[in-house]
Amino acid sequence: MSKSKGYAAMSPKAPLVPYSFDRREPREHDVVIEIKYCGICHSDIHQTRDEWSDYQEESIFPMVPGHEIAGVVTAVGSKVTKHKIGDKVGVGCFVDSCRTCAECKRGLEQYCSVQTIWTYNGRDKEGNPTYGGYSDRIVVDENYVLRMPSNLPLDACAPLLCAGITLYSPLRQWQAGPGKKVAIVGMGGLGHMGVKLAHALGAEVTVLSQSLKKQADGKRLGADHFYATSDPDTFTKLANSFDLIINTVSAKMDWNEYLSLLRIDGTMVLVGLPEKDVPVGAFSLTARRRRLAGSQIGGIGETQEMLDFCSKHGVACDIEVVPIQKLNEAYERVLKSDVRYRFVIDMASLTKS
Ligand code: NAP
Ligand code: ZN
Ligand code: ZN
Repeated sequence: MSKSKGYAAMSPKAPLVPYSFDRREPREHDVVIEIKYCGICHSDIHQTRDEWSDYQEESIFPMVPGHEIAGVVTAVGSKVTKHKIGDKVGVGCFVDSCRTCAECKRGLEQYCSVQTIWTYNGRDKEGNPTYGGYSDRIVVDENYVLRMPSNLPLDACAPLLCAGITLYSPLRQWQAGPGKKVAIVGMGGLGHMGVKLAHALGAEVTVLSQSLKKQADGKRLGADHFYATSDPDTFTKLANSFDLIINTVSAKMDWNEYLSLLRIDGTMVLVGLPEKDVPVGAFSLTARRRRLAGSQIGGIGETQEMLDFCSKHGVACDIEVVPIQKLNEAYERVLKSDVRYRFVIDMASLTKS
């Protein structure tokens, strides 16, 4: 074991504070990564505030969040072949899985039927808590470490590891592309990547945001249309018009209203994870053979494919870099939808804590 430094929530809803903890010594297949940047995902806020207690078996405190991890390899185990010292690498929402179940064999490790080992607020195969990327370094098996784009800034690519893949996977699964009308609900961390990726895939992209405040940004990021959902006319104008809606909203909202915007055989995919259940009326679906689906991040192979796609198309995140000491303020601003469009922690600031 060796000591790692980071920031943790010591108990549910507590502000995050400096915290030291143990990381395992690298094993034969492990990669040691010096963390340079880590994105702040809304899931970090949900989890440090224990907002998913209805759906999760346990929340483990002290909790060191962070699953949009970008850094540089500083050491490798004796049998590592996929990464070498000095490589720019990334780690997303999970650090291991069973590797043998049907889902793992299909490259769907995020749906492992035995156990996906989450980057934080999870337990490793020995039952020890996992700690995330708001820290100086992390030790991860080489098979769960990604290669970062070499032609794009590392800080702006960190959020691809959750926000990027969470939108890329359903856009691909439901064939967003030329001739398809795609709506992105909520233009925050996930949503702004949805706009960029759906545009890069060739779809006609509409943003459905609470107001028109982000309209100019939406157009700049690649949206063809932008509507405020606070205006009831929006729902009349856009009724029965989309092939695919990706809903990134973190709060409770009326999903039936959004389902009414799908054309026949259209699908709304939920990626936002509100704290409580949301009712869905059968008529919202039956009226036009509509579908309601969900999606969770992406597997390792698909995440690498997304990173390579972003590298090729010059797609990275719009970020605001913050020192780790501003973490709690950044959380408050995310909660007010006041982030353009992802906070990324500069881990060099950790030495000042
Ligand atoms: P975020 O940056 O806070 O973005 C959420 C956006 O939703 C806001 O920017 C806002 O967009 C809109 N919104 C917020 N409150 C709203 C309300 N009351 N009514 C309507 N719209 C509202 O969060 P994020 O990091 O993108 O994460 C979004 C959600 O996805 C979270 O619940 C997170 O836990 C979840 N998530 C899921 C996965 C997965 O694998 N499924 C992965 C990562 C995150 P506008 O200002 O444009 O309205
Ligand atoms: Zn996330
Ligand atoms: Zn598995």
